[in-house]
Amino acid sequence: MSTDMGNFRRGPWLQLALTAGTALLGVLWFIRWSAGGHGDKATAYLFMPAGLAVAAFAILRMVRTVPLAPAAARFWWQLFGGCLLLFGGYSALAVAAFRSAPDYPAMPIAGTVGVCGGMLVAIHAVARVPLGVATRYELGRQWLDRAIAFLGCAGVLYHFGLAPLIDTPELRGRPLVTMTLLAFVLAAGSITKVSYINGGPVDRVAVRLLAAMGLVGAVVAMIGVNGGPDWPAAAQALALPVVPVLLVLAVHRQWISAGAPPRRPNTWLPYLAVAAVQVPVVDVLLHPAATAERVAAATAVAVIMLVMIRQYLVMRENGRLLREREESERRARHEATHDPLTGLANRALFREWLVQVLATGDATVLLVDLDDFKTVNDSLGHDVGDELLVAFAGTLSDATGDDGRVVRLGGDEFAVLVTGPRQAGDPLAQRIMTAFEVPISVHRLLVHASIGIATAPSGTAASSLLRDADIALYTAKQRGKGNWVRYTADLQQPVFTDVRLGGELRRALDAGEFRLLYQPIVRLADRRLIGVEALVRWQHPQRGLVPPLEFIPAAERTGLIVPLGRFVLRETCRQAAAWLAEFGPHALEKASPNVSVRQLHDPDFVGDVKAALADSGLPAGRLVLELTESAVLRGPQVSRVLHEIHAIGVRLALDDFGTGESSLSLLRTFPAAMVKLDKSFVDGIELEHPGTPGNDAGQAVARAVAQLASAFGLDTVAEGIENEEQVQRLRTLGYTVGQGYHLGRPMEAGKITELLARQRLTAAA
Ligand code: C2E
Ligand code: MG
Ligand code: MG
Repeated sequence: MSTDMGNFRRGPWLQLALTAGTALLGVLWFIRWSAGGHGDKATAYLFMPAGLAVAAFAILRMVRTVPLAPAAARFWWQLFGGCLLLFGGYSALAVAAFRSAPDYPAMPIAGTVGVCGGMLVAIHAVARVPLGVATRYELGRQWLDRAIAFLGCAGVLYHFGLAPLIDTPELRGRPLVTMTLLAFVLAAGSITKVSYINGGPVDRVAVRLLAAMGLVGAVVAMIGVNGGPDWPAAAQALALPVVPVLLVLAVHRQWISAGAPPRRPNTWLPYLAVAAVQVPVVDVLLHPAATAERVAAATAVAVIMLVMIRQYLVMRENGRLLREREESERRARHEATHDPLTGLANRALFREWLVQVLATGDATVLLVDLDDFKTVNDSLGHDVGDELLVAFAGTLSDATGDDGRVVRLGGDEFAVLVTGPRQAGDPLAQRIMTAFEVPISVHRLLVHASIGIATAPSGTAASSLLRDADIALYTAKQRGKGNWVRYTADLQQPVFTDVRLGGELRRALDAGEFRLLYQPIVRLADRRLIGVEALVRWQHPQRGLVPPLEFIPAAERTGLIVPLGRFVLRETCRQAAAWLAEFGPHALEKASPNVSVRQLHDPDFVGDVKAALADSGLPAGRLVLELTESAVLRGPQVSRVLHEIHAIGVRLALDDFGTGESSLSLLRTFPAAMVKLDKSFVDGIELEHPGTPGNDAGQAVARAVAQLASAFGLDTVAEGIENEEQVQRLRTLGYTVGQGYHLGRPMEAGKITELLARQRLTAAA
């Protein structure tokens, strides 16, 4: 747009003013001259060469300034040549006029050669304007149309222009007839060609203006026939100076049309030609003729006119159908490339764009993922989920503005494509993060997004850029969601390790390589075994027994913790039910598997717990789920799940208590039945002799937790007890139950069975 405006402003305005001024001067001169015979009539011959000189300069300037396609440049260079020839021809005529004054001059040979040569060159130029026809059928039809149009046009020009000229005895045989003929060929040729120029290199309107130049020839011929003895002065001063004006106007059109979109070619031109040839027929009809001939001609005209009206109606209908088809094609394309819910572009279109951008320059991709969308969908329903996605898309688009193109890749995954310099994505990511700090209008939900950014230089494969962005997004999620990460090569390593480990875990799960150890939970007063904590182990075929800390984090990141946790839950229930059946209700009160936060987000979790209890026959009250505090703090969805679990009678324990974001309010709202004092507060708690570095803070926390628990009516378990002194110290602080290597290491189920059997014996004794 701005370049168009620039071209427009720089158009050949001065030349236009000069040629128009020359034409106006011609008119003024003629009026004065014919009124009072002022001056020499040879002056009339000056206007045309003056105008042509200016027009030739205008063409030259345009060809030099405007970047033209080769075909257009050739066309305008030829016109420049034609213009120079015309200038030469009319200059020669002007010289002859001054020599023969006060009589009108005869056309000198040089004049005839210049003028006819100029027009021939122009005809050649128009003939060579390329049309860009694709098929042979189209080419054939076009020639047919052009033949019809040419004949129609030529018929009219002949009847009204050339024929009277030939019939005028004084003019017959003069160069004027030849020149008029050439002007007509130029006019008819241009008219028939111009309709098929659809946005090609040469501007259509420019060619149309050239056609109008040919029509000036018709005016000259008419002046010649009807203008009386002074017709040459009238033709030279009034009609011909219009030619340079039209030429400069054509230059102006070409100047401003550079880069204009293509248009559909005319289809009505042949019909116009058919209508045009009716005019001479009617003119003939108006002159004396036999009745039979008149009737024949009149019916022929009437039939042709009616056929044309019919044709017009058909064309209009065709046009309507064509528009409808274009519209439905446009709609179909839109549907195939856009997401119906949010109206954003979809993955297919995104790929297309990405490939295009990467073909020419740098591309930055922001993968934007709505955190915990599944939770909203599962807990508030799909309608709310949909609303949320629409609102999310809106906020994302607003935050992005004109800095990128937003697409929905599917589900809760969005992307923004940014072109331009490498760092352009970072401030945008920050802006998007900020935009989601405000609750979204749907149910006033506060949603967060994680963003992964990657940039690639032109020529990179789209898939590799997307993979980088994916890795960055994955890392962002892993770092705790609600933040953005730019891809760097060193991100790749841990992800691939995770991916490999993820695959391994899956295989191990299917191969049954996981098993459980049970660690005793003991009453401190009499060391009686009252419960067990189930701790998972991976019996790796090469690596041997792998401790949980080496694979639980990866299982959480890859989501495999869900099936793994389900296994732990079912196996614990099965084993606890077996002990219950063997040793009775008083032997072992509870069995505690660990549950990770990721499992609480799984919509099937509550169902899994119920099924594990039902399938094993274990009463709900004998199952205790161990959860970390940070897991419990994870929002309303988790809270609802925990209350459901609580409602079926399963107890909940807060594991590693005191290490996380423990808060009093958590104890009030969370339906916990017990807290497990973390090992870090037990370590060194027994060292109380003066001068020894003891764990005073640990002691303070241990005491506070015990008091807090009793205030809220919760049971306590002290974890990680490694010696007898710790047992004694903890007892004085108010702890009755403990767990630790000193009281029993994690062991095979069979070992627990032995312990229970021994305990039954002592009880009996
Ligand atoms: P946790 O739930 O706090 O489990 C207690 C951990 O402390 C166990 O380590 C146990 O062997 C260890 N431990 C117990 N007494 C002592 C002691 O006196 N001294 C020392 N130094 N350590 C003691 P483990 O089995 O390696 O498990 C580590 C963590 O892995 C667990 O911490 C738990 O958070 C997680 N975990 C274990 N099994 C599972 C499982 O099935 N699911 C999930 N989600 N997490 C599990
Ligand atoms: Mg635990
Ligand atoms: Mg613990």
